[in-house]
Amino acid sequence: MSDLLANLNAEQLQAVSLPPQHALILAGAGSGKTRVLTTRIAWLIQSGQADPAAILAVTFTNKAAKEMLARLAAMLPVSPRGMWIGTFHGLANRLLRAHHRDAGLPQLFQILDAADQLAAIKRLLKALNVDDEKFPPRELQHFINGQKEAGIRPHAVEAWDDYTRQRVQLYQEYEAQCQRESVVDFAELLLRSHELLERNEPLRRHYQRRFRHILVDEFQDTNRLQYRWLKLFADEGREGGAAMFCVGDDDQSIYRFRGAEVGNMRDFEREFRVANVIRLEQNYRSRSNILDAANAIIRHNTNRLGKNLWTDQGAGEPIRVFEAFSDGDEARWIVEEIQQLVREGALRSEIALLYRSNAQSRVLEHQLFSAGLPYRVYGGLRFFERQEIKHALAYLRLIANADDDTVFARVVNFPTRGIGARSLEVLQDAARTYNTSLYATVPHLSGKPGSALAVFVRLVEDLRRDTAGLPLPELVDHVLDASGLRAHYKAEKEGRERLENLDELINAAANFLAEAQAQRAPEEAAAAHALLADFLAHASLEAGEHQADPGADAVQLMTVHSAKGLEFNAVFLSGLEEGLFPHENSLLESDGLEEERRLMYVAVTRARERLYLSFAQSRMLHGQTRYNLRSRFLEEVPAGLTKWLTPPNPRSAAGGEFGSMRAGAGGGYFKPSAPVQRAPRPAFAPLPNGLRIGQAVSHAKFGQGVIVAAEGSGTDAKVQINFGPAGVKWLLLSVAKLEAA
Ligand code: ATP
Ligand code: MG
Repeated sequence: MSDLLANLNAEQLQAVSLPPQHALILAGAGSGKTRVLTTRIAWLIQSGQADPAAILAVTFTNKAAKEMLARLAAMLPVSPRGMWIGTFHGLANRLLRAHHRDAGLPQLFQILDAADQLAAIKRLLKALNVDDEKFPPRELQHFINGQKEAGIRPHAVEAWDDYTRQRVQLYQEYEAQCQRESVVDFAELLLRSHELLERNEPLRRHYQRRFRHILVDEFQDTNRLQYRWLKLFADEGREGGAAMFCVGDDDQSIYRFRGAEVGNMRDFEREFRVANVIRLEQNYRSRSNILDAANAIIRHNTNRLGKNLWTDQGAGEPIRVFEAFSDGDEARWIVEEIQQLVREGALRSEIALLYRSNAQSRVLEHQLFSAGLPYRVYGGLRFFERQEIKHALAYLRLIANADDDTVFARVVNFPTRGIGARSLEVLQDAARTYNTSLYATVPHLSGKPGSALAVFVRLVEDLRRDTAGLPLPELVDHVLDASGLRAHYKAEKEGRERLENLDELINAAANFLAEAQAQRAPEEAAAAHALLADFLAHASLEAGEHQADPGADAVQLMTVHSAKGLEFNAVFLSGLEEGLFPHENSLLESDGLEEERRLMYVAVTRARERLYLSFAQSRMLHGQTRYNLRSRFLEEVPAGLTKWLTPPNPRSAAGGEFGSMRAGAGGGYFKPSAPVQRAPRPAFAPLPNGLRIGQAVSHAKFGQGVIVAAEGSGTDAKVQINFGPAGVKWLLLSVAKLEAA
């Protein structure tokens, strides 16, 4: 039997070797969906059923796409390069670059991310002299993206009232501006490539003929436009179109807030008349303590298709639960536990710290940094490297040293204050002539550039004067307001997280002040501007050097959203507090709490061997100390699965039974993950009657199938055939009447 198929269970085998028909694999976390999808690609190629160029596979993140390519490269003797494997945006981009002329784009078109898009919209409103109170840029952005995701261009929007008509006109103007500037936003990538194929029949036929197999991971998180895009490639499910193979888990649908439609799974089943719906129930990832906890949590959701996972991996360690006094205390505990795991032989890269919101990473980063533990932050920049933090630090640095030209240039027109590139050029030329810093050159300039720049210089002077003598956190707070940064991000659609991060900078300053006070004489610590310089040095030190190199053995930090699909030997999930996780905003939305619970399910199911859950009595968040109750999700974990490291505290919860305080840590279960092994080339023995593995055959009773394996010879020769809905069967060749299909 093929090595590729050797380690699959019966349902996985059935899924991997299905005949080329549409299929939906609906299964819980860690049941091998991604593995099945990857193995199917390898199997299709290895058994000669498909050419690499005939494969189109969609993953959710670039990281997942890279991993899939690496696995395929290890499994296959041929290069996986001809395959189209990537995210929706990545693949749409590839298509548009290849046919940019047909799509009406220059070859080097640029892509706008959400923040760029908002900036472009604001610029447009300004240029058109449109009142942005009447048409708030964020709402307009939402409107435009919503239309694009529904596949509707401005001329096709049904507008019944004046306000909508005006918005449609702005949508049209925005499109014209993008076209003029050769930029394409995220929704446009998908819509434009969809339209290209819809309009251009020869091109559409070309791709429909080319891609015989379309495989989609994390199908539950596709939105309407993405689904339509897939349907176009698959010729809407018509005879002769590509076979669609979708894997997903309704319990892990965590992007409904962005328009993902779990209903796509039902539509797919119906519209493609999917005969093969396969469920996988065995979980290969987690110890049963972890899996049972995940199952128990998700059972509290009502809106689900329903399934139950089991594992034969043994109970493993109890889930450790820790109640901290504060977020700093929590982070210290996590770092101590990590050090213990590392002493027991754990790889740092097999340890993940997960959190609900990006702003939570700072405290963790700080403790990791102090302990000298290498770490990497995924799906987001490290705290001090984030755009908004760098802008804020730039203002602080100007207070400390106004002659720093780099930071001067960074914020002289941020937020925008009408200082154009031309003025800056004039300033730079003059600075060279006078041989002074940009800041010091401003008084030498006259005319319009001079007066605009003088306003900025006054701003910096005011900042310096007004903050003298302020304690460090207040100093930072003042700068965030007076610089206009806060107001700027308040107006942005994606700005909420940036605002949270700015508030987090105040927390960092407060902690720094507390540490300084503990270490120095009071009069020294009070000198605000001296302390500011130290704080800035600390910030650049933490920013510059201490994020581990890619590929180094480093602790992994990320939000739960970006952990989807990944797995680690040990997972720390911190901040399990009401208001934080579940997030307070979710409580206002219908399905909000269930979406949070699905997110919790995703978090818990990332762990293989060890799971650590923690919460803090008090937390500095968004610039203030908050006292939260522990998360309801903790109460949903059965007591028998947990071990509390701190006595369960009735104060922090609304009742509930918790596990006993057993002492003793128990042994470590860490096995370093095995290196990916290159599978040997398959030796498919030729079968009698000219049959071969991978061949499609038909059988009078069971229908269409694919030969998956063979055994024996002569009259004993048997073949294993996957008949899809009719199951996987062994048949004696001498008896079974098989015909090549
Ligand atoms: P998620 O829903 O989290 O994306 P998944 O269903 O995609 O999970 P995989 O990541 O494919 O699950 O598999 C989980 C783990 O189980 C992986 O380490 C995978 O290699 C392993 N695994 C899957 N099937 C088997 C099997 N038959 N035998 C041994 N290990 C397996
Ligand atoms: Mg997966």
